[in-house]
Amino acid sequence: MEQTYAIELKNITKRFGKIVANDGINLKVKRGEILSLLGENGSGKTTLMNMISGIYFPDEGRILVDGKAVSIRSPKDSFDLGIGMIHQHFKLIDVMTAAENIILGLKGNAVLDMKKVHKDIQELVDRYGFDLDPAQKVYTMSVSQKQTVEIVKMLDRGANILILDEPTAALDPIAENEIYSRFNSFVENKTAIYISHRLSSCAFCDRIAVFDNAELVETGTHNELISANGRYAELWNAQASYYLE
Ligand code: ADP
Repeated sequence: MEQTYAIELKNITKRFGKIVANDGINLKVKRGEILSLLGENGSGKTTLMNMISGIYFPDEGRILVDGKAVSIRSPKDSFDLGIGMIHQHFKLIDVMTAAENIILGLKGNAVLDMKKVHKDIQELVDRYGFDLDPAQKVYTMSVSQKQTVEIVKMLDRGANILILDEPTAALDPIAENEIYSRFNSFVENKTAIYISHRLSSCAFCDRIAVFDNAELVETGTHNELISANGRYAELWNAQASYYLE
């Protein structure tokens, strides 16, 4: 039987004026897979994911979700397909708690019982082994904690394909480890795509798709990419040491 993929991108091209941000991208993401999109800034990773999350619409090409061709015209369309994207710049309200941010914008918000909301969120947090206090205010949180709030928000709304655009603020190795364990806890029936510019940050991913100058140039496991055959290994490793200095 032919395998169906959580997401399949066929020949996706996106231009901004004269700039080609994505040039004929073909990419398949299996259900339950953790895939990393790796590439330098400006190589087209975020643009590609923004087309899955309904922010941009492709100029050319097709997107399939669970084997069906879809037309994603808005973030709501994307969400209705079970896709949740956590953007590089968090969309959280600092003066609110984690729980308040998680339920923000949900229908019937005004009549929600906050005790029940906290209990439901706590259950979700425990199920996935997150370290998050629903009552903590966002302005007291680290980058990594804010990211957790965004992830729990997506899970609370039923997302089963999660896209995480790495935060701009450099994460220390401990925070990075937290990301790995978080992503690993999703894997059952969920699919995760992690945008990164460091090969060393992608070791926990099942597969890595390398982007360069609007093209998908190579796909492989972490080991394959760091091997002598990985044409891009030197570049990414050089970047990794640069960012760790
Ligand atoms: P990455 O995520 O790999 O850093 P991006 O997808 O953000 O790369 O950007 C790919 C290219 O598209 C870059 O040249 C960037 O400047 C350009 N680009 C992205 N978004 C826009 C936009 N809204 N308008 C014009 N150019 C854009």
